Amino acid sequence: MYFDDYDSPVFRPPSEARSFILRLTRGCAHNQCTYCNMYRGVPFQVLTDEQIMRQVAMAQAYNTKAVRRVFFADGDALVLSTERLLRILSVLRQVFPNFERASSYAAPKDILHKTPEDLEKLRDAGLTLLYYGMESGDSQTLKDINKGVNGEESIEVGRRVIAAGMKLSLMIILGIAGQEGSERHALATAKAISEIRPTMLGAICLMLYRGSELKAQFERGEFHPLSPAGLMEELLMMMENVHLPETEHCIFRSNHISNYVQLAATLPEDMDRLKEEIRYSIRELSKLSSWDVYNHDKY
Ligand code: SF4
Repeated sequence: MYFDDYDSPVFRPPSEARSFILRLTRGCAHNQCTYCNMYRGVPFQVLTDEQIMRQVAMAQAYNTKAVRRVFFADGDALVLSTERLLRILSVLRQVFPNFERASSYAAPKDILHKTPEDLEKLRDAGLTLLYYGMESGDSQTLKDINKGVNGEESIEVGRRVIAAGMKLSLMIILGIAGQEGSERHALATAKAISEIRPTMLGAICLMLYRGSELKAQFERGEFHPLSPAGLMEELLMMMENVHLPETEHCIFRSNHISNYVQLAATLPEDMDRLKEEIRYSIRELSKLSSWDVYNHDKY
């Protein structure tokens, strides 16, 4: 067995815990988002066919029938050409008789480089779910955090994935614009969500990760994080400005380790209840006499 292909940290969404993690790239080609330390120090690399196929062979040797879902790692797997991704998906179908679907993180520039036809071909071949960390719909915030795309491009990414018939799990970060940019971030992100109409929406709270540029900005006094109540006020403003058609069934979750309050809803049908729960949590979190952003320092 070869473990060399898993020699640097492998990240995956919690919902892919039972999936076969197939590494197509190592690291992230962008690797410049100020809040992220996931692949710092990991030189970006596209794996060779040999490296990819020996992972497939390893899973095949372990249990061919157990592989139903496959997650393409790392942060930038869709940088591979559509033709190469289609060949890989074809192999997965041949090797694993119970293969149901593949999924991947979607780096925004990778999606913008693919045509609508590319995305449809990939969906038909089994790549049916993409996880997109949009973080914000606000161009100034996206510029400040070095996301590499602006608000309009972010919306375009989401719309292209949905238009191709794929499921889209959209992630946003509460507090990413700090105190000064909170309202701007909330309103622009609400607009982006309304226009994209994602299948799933996740709201996590900003964590200041060790080794990240944003943490250094915080320590220099240049970034002013929101309090726990402030994060929920930002979420409330966002939800007050999200407008989804009544026929939509967007699964909303705010249940990451970073979240002070666990929330779950289907939007828009549960919107009134969700807003009431957010208002309650603002009242409760406002009673905190102190809070420590360094609680998040251990990651
Ligand atoms: S957040 Fe995603 S795109 Fe940005 S550096 Fe980290 S892995 Fe790369």
